[in-house]
Amino acid sequence: MVHENSPVKTPSCSLCNEPAVYHDKKTGRHFCRDHFIADVEGRVADTIRSRNLIVPGDHVAIALSGGKDSTALLMILARLLPSWDTVRLTAVTIDEGIAGYREDTIHSADQMAAKYRLCHTCVSFLELFGGTLDAFLKGCEPEACSVCGILRRKALNVGAERVGATRLATGHNLDDEAQSVFMNVLRGDLPRLVRDSGSDSKGMFIPRIKPLMFISEKEIAVYLMLHGAWADLPECPYAVHALRREVRGMLATLESKHPGTMLHLMESKAKIEAHCSGVLDTEPVRHCRECNDPCSGETCQLCQLKGRLGI
Ligand SMILES: [Zn+2]
Ligand SMILES: [Zn+2]
Repeated sequence: MVHENSPVKTPSCSLCNEPAVYHDKKTGRHFCRDHFIADVEGRVADTIRSRNLIVPGDHVAIALSGGKDSTALLMILARLLPSWDTVRLTAVTIDEGIAGYREDTIHSADQMAAKYRLCHTCVSFLELFGGTLDAFLKGCEPEACSVCGILRRKALNVGAERVGATRLATGHNLDDEAQSVFMNVLRGDLPRLVRDSGSDSKGMFIPRIKPLMFISEKEIAVYLMLHGAWADLPECPYAVHALRREVRGMLATLESKHPGTMLHLMESKAKIEAHCSGVLDTEPVRHCRECNDPCSGETCQLCQLKGRLGI
């Protein structure tokens, strides 16, 4: 038997003869270390260019939580930076006040910003809202992600304004985006499905951008490992309550059985968006009667939440 004792051969990179470290099931291509890194960075650069996410003269605030996605975002933007000579980057971290979780990630955010010589600003819920997320959530833990999401949104806007940023970049990846599409469909929330495309209230806030929206969670993990930046960071203790967690598991299974599922969800969203433009977007933007921030109703989500939590 010729093949009996032959060792399992590592596949070679589809672009050179080096051993492959990653197999892209969607395209069938294998990548070596260098070609994998170049592919990820090239796709992020394409997303930025084709959607005008960053233009010359921009000052980009990177929402750096110190977790995997935002760490990869910072690394990729910092490495792409030399090709945009008039663009500036600053890291902004939000301290929500989550005991046993935030301390480690703030420390790693600090180290990462220092490594790439970026200015780093921290904004805390305590400073902005007079308390920690832990304190606000007493008795309503199952609502953690929606409460935190509304407070974080405001805190990130404040941080980005403080540093004088013209864009706010977040580390949302393909998995996050596909999960959001699916969740909005499950909730029957078509307006939100269409509106949730990274821009806030027609330019009335600093525009939010998601440069990693076509890079999967798995690709981000491999990218970090190949740079020796992989750390087993703790998961947010409140994530256990989220519908997102169930959707995440379901989509991960579908993606592994049917590679490309998540991209197809994104394509569906783009098609729905194209059909709905001008139909769902006609609601006039008003100003919150309490804080004057732009919103769609009488009072913004943040002021409603503050009232409910007694902040
Ligand atoms: Zn190669
Ligand atoms: Zn308000």
